[in-house]
Amino acid sequence: MKLTFLGGVSEVGPLSMLMEHKGTTFIFDHGMLPADPPEYPMRPPMVDFAMLSHSHLDHCGMLPTLVRTYGVPILSTHPTIEVTELLLYDSLKIAEIEGYPLFFDKSDIKKTKSAFDMVGYNSKRDIGGMEIEIHSAGHIPGSAMFELRGEKTTLFSGDINTKNTRLQWGAHPVKCDTLIMETTYGGEDHPDRSETEQDLLDTVDDTLSKGGQAIIPVFAVGRTQEILMLLDEGDYDIWYDGMGRTVNRIYLNHEGFLRSPDALRRAVNNANQVHSHRMRKKAMDAEVIVSTSGMVSGGPVMNYILNKRKDKNTSILLTGYQVPGTNGNMLLEKGVIQDRGATIPIDCQVKRYDFSAHAGHSELLEFARGCDPEEIVLMHGDARELVAEDLSEFNVHIPKEGEVLEL
Ligand SMILES: [Zn+2]
Ligand SMILES: [Zn+2]
Repeated sequence: MKLTFLGGVSEVGPLSMLMEHKGTTFIFDHGMLPADPPEYPMRPPMVDFAMLSHSHLDHCGMLPTLVRTYGVPILSTHPTIEVTELLLYDSLKIAEIEGYPLFFDKSDIKKTKSAFDMVGYNSKRDIGGMEIEIHSAGHIPGSAMFELRGEKTTLFSGDINTKNTRLQWGAHPVKCDTLIMETTYGGEDHPDRSETEQDLLDTVDDTLSKGGQAIIPVFAVGRTQEILMLLDEGDYDIWYDGMGRTVNRIYLNHEGFLRSPDALRRAVNNANQVHSHRMRKKAMDAEVIVSTSGMVSGGPVMNYILNKRKDKNTSILLTGYQVPGTNGNMLLEKGVIQDRGATIPIDCQVKRYDFSAHAGHSELLEFARGCDPEEIVLMHGDARELVAEDLSEFNVHIPKEGEVLEL
């Protein structure tokens, strides 16, 4: 088996991995990093088959170029396919607005959608002389790990979360000979989730008691749903806005990929959805706003924050990692955001909570040990050495972009 990473291996960048096995070439994910400017993986040679682990753009963002060039079939789950389609159209729109290069068009996205071979968790396919089984990765609904069984067994993890969240059950280890594992949170452990949840709810209560508003920027995919389910514990006047609305609908249409479809449906129904300009105006005075984008880099959350920018009693509760250079990061570091070229001071209280959907360092180690492989290939992280050090009982590989690894 020959592995080549075309991107996203030594950093949390646009992931793409080639696997050549007995004359068949597979490609696992083919993403783009929606940074400024965006980052892309290297161009692949002819591939026979693609597998898509999940619908985040750093994994799926360049898939249409594979369909456009090689017409490859893509194996993935139903929610992944639908959310991927949504994000691809959105990325096209952003590329047009920002003047980024366009590598595909709307008709390629359509072709990509019909190139998908839809599978459920624990279903199997015979491809390239191997039996391929799909396991839940626990990262976002529909996220998958691929187990390839030939003479030897290989597991490609995609992005994983081994802890149970409100939205999903955590991923379990799969016995294999070769484990190809993500390391986004290598070297870092997450705080206790229930304490984080309580801390956020306490801050919302505190904010409301002072007459302020709680504005919660969220990612559309996974985080919107997780936060709505958490807020459903309280008795708040909640309004949600942005792309998460469509993702809610997609996930509720695919109940089998959720831990509790009833709990998500209840949370969504107990909150108010903003679906018109008039409602957005009304939502300006809500107790709690849940809206994209998660890093405050555009989306309706900008309007809500600008509306309350002088209110010291209002809180902005960030719910994920904030990439340096984004508004979310500037809010945390300097209490300002950029809007149409102007720097605007924000007087609201700003806090950040770790609602990560990735396994932390200790969970990665536990997962790898549970898989009990002979070889481990670490990918998709900038602190892989720290993970490798703690897994010294295994034969661990830390390949670079473009390097060929023969196993
Ligand atoms: Zn992801
Ligand atoms: Zn990723």
